[in-house]
Amino acid sequence: MIAIVKSTATEDQLQHFVRWIEGRGFSTNISRGDNETIVGIIGDTTQIDPFLLESMDIIERVQRVSEPFKKANRKFHPEDTIVDCGHGVLVGGGHFQVMAGPCSVEGKNLIQIARACKASGATMLRGGAYKPRTSPYAYQGMGEHGLDLLLEASAELDMPIVTEVMDVRDVQLFVDKRIDVMQIGARNAQNFNLLKEVGKTDIPVLLKRGLAGTIDELLMAAEYIMSEGNEKVMLCERGIRTFETRTRNTFDVNAIPVLHYLTHLPVIGDPSHATGYTRYVRPIAYAATAAGADGLEIEVHNCPSEAWSDGAQALTPAQFDDAMRRIALIREAITAEVA
Ligand code: PEP
Ligand code: MN
Repeated sequence: MIAIVKSTATEDQLQHFVRWIEGRGFSTNISRGDNETIVGIIGDTTQIDPFLLESMDIIERVQRVSEPFKKANRKFHPEDTIVDCGHGVLVGGGHFQVMAGPCSVEGKNLIQIARACKASGATMLRGGAYKPRTSPYAYQGMGEHGLDLLLEASAELDMPIVTEVMDVRDVQLFVDKRIDVMQIGARNAQNFNLLKEVGKTDIPVLLKRGLAGTIDELLMAAEYIMSEGNEKVMLCERGIRTFETRTRNTFDVNAIPVLHYLTHLPVIGDPSHATGYTRYVRPIAYAATAAGADGLEIEVHNCPSEAWSDGAQALTPAQFDDAMRRIALIREAITAEVA
């Protein structure tokens, strides 16, 4: 349920109302916009009489929110959330960023790839130190040493890093090392204990859509994180499993405007995992940008044929540079004022 507060209400009246609601065992979520303040009421709101609330002087109107996701719901928070990823990099609400880098951190080539990505305009560095692989015999990642290499690159290039946390037991390490953005991978999109654990931190989270996850399941995964207090969540469309076998996954371009309609959280497109083949990554990056994504996550490798994971979908630095120029043109086209 949401209560829209009259613009004439004072801060004291608002706090009095919030205490009254919380005193009845509900939790609240206040969203202060330019035009209105909304108090989201979370709990079993069938116990609340909306007419009673509407009879209060400061309440403009009351609306039930039927969706099970509350904090992630745009009705609770009409304005876009802008996530501060550190190093001056903001995502959402008109701030568009590209996160680029190798699938896995492999060693010395990381800094070389990172420098090239930055030179082409990437503003965030991605790389996996803990890798969720379908086969237990495939490369599993460098672990803590990989995080250190990412942090060295971050310091040299003044860029935030995005890296996957796979295990509840590693979350504290990511906090201690001040990782800028924790990625929750597609395979962990319904690992509710992990979602709750990252929700207890204040580190921004890049939450990927599950392999066969619906949009609502993605939003409920975000709700798990936000319900623990961490509202710095970015959603990532990375393709879903369909009957199609010509590509690794099927990029659901619909999800971008649908998510923007349903939630205030930023939406990132990942054309690399969505397609699985280098030749398709750029067209899908353009489609995601044109559909209004708040950013992209793209895998780049200095020598894709030698990559330790996901070489088949990596762009070379030259291909990435070309992509970035066209992405900038598409951003201009979709944000331009037209008469
Ligand atoms: C990745 O980003 O390297 C990754 C494993 O992504 P996903 O979880 O989307 O498969
Ligand atoms: Mn990958």
